[in-house]
Amino acid sequence: MLVVALLSVDELKRYSRQLILPNFGAREQRKLKQSKVVVTGAGGIGCPALYYLAACGVGNITIVDSDKIEANNLNRQILFTPADVGKPKAETAARRIMEFNPEIKVEAIEEIIMYDNCFELLKGFDAICDGTDNFPTRYAINDAAVVNKTPLFHAAALQFEGRVFTVIPGESACLRCMFPVIPPAGTIPSCREAGILGPVLGVASSVQAIECVKHLAGLGAKLGGRMIIFDARTVSFDEFKVKKNKNCTACGGKGFVPSPVEYKCEG
Ligand SMILES: [Zn+2]
Repeated sequence: MLVVALLSVDELKRYSRQLILPNFGAREQRKLKQSKVVVTGAGGIGCPALYYLAACGVGNITIVDSDKIEANNLNRQILFTPADVGKPKAETAARRIMEFNPEIKVEAIEEIIMYDNCFELLKGFDAICDGTDNFPTRYAINDAAVVNKTPLFHAAALQFEGRVFTVIPGESACLRCMFPVIPPAGTIPSCREAGILGPVLGVASSVQAIECVKHLAGLGAKLGGRMIIFDARTVSFDEFKVKKNKNCTACGGKGFVPSPVEYKCEG
C-alpha cells in the first residue's frame, strides 16, 4: 500500500475521521498533502478558511497579506488575539496555523497584490482561496487565476450576507464575465462602513474551503460558474448561474487583454 505509506502514523491518526468518509481515503489525503494553496487575505474570510484548509491537511499553504492586525478585526478574524494587535497578519496567521497543524508547511508573504506582481506572485499553486476585501485586488487575482489557469475559490461577506464564487479557468465563468470592469470606488460599501457579523464570514469561508478541498482531492460536483449567496437574516442559501462571456477581457475568445489602468488603486 504505497499510498498509505506516504502518510505518517501521526497523520493517519489526525485525519482518521475523514479517511473513513465515502470516496475519501489515503489517496485523497495524499493529494491534499501534496497540494499548494495560496490564501490571499488573512482577514475575516482568510482566517476560518486557513483553519479548515490546515485541519483537512492541505500540505503547503502560502498566506499573502500586507496588513497589520487591528483591534476592530477581532470580531471576525479568529486566528488573532488582543496580544497580536499591531503585528503583521500574514506572519501571525502562518505561525498560528503551524501550531495548529505541525504536519503542514506554511509560508507568509507580506505584500500588496497588484497588477504588477499578481501574475508572478500567484504562479505555481494548485488553487487560490481569495478573501481580499477590495475590488482592484480581487480583479488582479481573478486575472492571474485565468492567465495562470489556477482554480480560484472566491468568498466575500458584508453585513448579513455571504457570497462564494468559484472560477475553474477554461471551464467556467470568471469574475469579469459577471462584472467586466471594477465598480467605481465608493459605489459598493465595505465592512468598514456597512458592518459585518463574524459568523457570516465563517459560513462563506467554510463553503470556500469545502470547494477547494473537494477540488484538490478530486471529489464531487464543483461550484464553477455558480454564485452562492447565504443570507443570515433568513438563514437561507440562494444561487444563480454565471455564464461564460465570450467577449470577456480575461477569459474570452480573444485571450487575456490587460487593462492596467484599473489597478491604480492599491486597496
Ligand atoms: Zn471571464
